[in-house]
Amino acid sequence: MTPADATPEGATPEGAASLACPACGKPLSLCLCAAIRPIDNKIFVLILQHPQEKAQALGTAHLVTRIFQRSALKPGLSWPGLKRVLGREVEMKRWGVLYLGSATLKARMQEQAAAGDVLIALDRKGEPLASPAALAGLDGIIVLDGNWAQAKALWWRNPWLLKARRLVLQPASGSLYGALRREPRAESLSTLEAVARSLACLEARAEIVETALEPFRLLLKKYRDRGTRSAGHL
Ligand SMILES: [Zn+2]
Repeated sequence: MTPADATPEGATPEGAASLACPACGKPLSLCLCAAIRPIDNKIFVLILQHPQEKAQALGTAHLVTRIFQRSALKPGLSWPGLKRVLGREVEMKRWGVLYLGSATLKARMQEQAAAGDVLIALDRKGEPLASPAALAGLDGIIVLDGNWAQAKALWWRNPWLLKARRLVLQPASGSLYGALRREPRAESLSTLEAVARSLACLEARAEIVETALEPFRLLLKKYRDRGTRSAGHL
């Protein structure tokens, strides 16, 4: 028996915080399982995760795989192609990759987004495609998980991503993260928010957003509560 085994449960809050829930992957003190309601998404979600993003307490990529029944999370920096990532045949034309988009494009999209989230597809030159067909018939979407610089690194290290349709999301409102995470752009969303809002647009199921964000709200609440109890370890 180790000294840790002899400690009564709950007596070492720091120790308990370091144990992760096997289901949601969060520290036990931040376990979100009670708030997770699985979503039967039709369009597959693939998250390519920058290795340095893995350790983020507020990261949401793992949560995406718990919520969305058709999804996968692959940590790494580069892959030879989508077929190798998924281990099955794919038609790249039927896949989209969520792209950051240029500042000018975002500014143009912002007006439209006043009425709700806007998702558009871009042509090879980066110009928006007006036809609704540009967003139709997708088998899956690829989302790059990491901060802005990490997502950019993933983009450049995987040139096969250029064969997918380039999608840009302009959310009607900002991230629930609020001031907890500093991102270079105000509208930067968590991976979970980006996935939920994109799928809600693509599958025309607005309810996906609320169902998916329920555990995220709980995560932020628990995180803030924990922060006020012990100032460190954020
Ligand atoms: Zn859990």
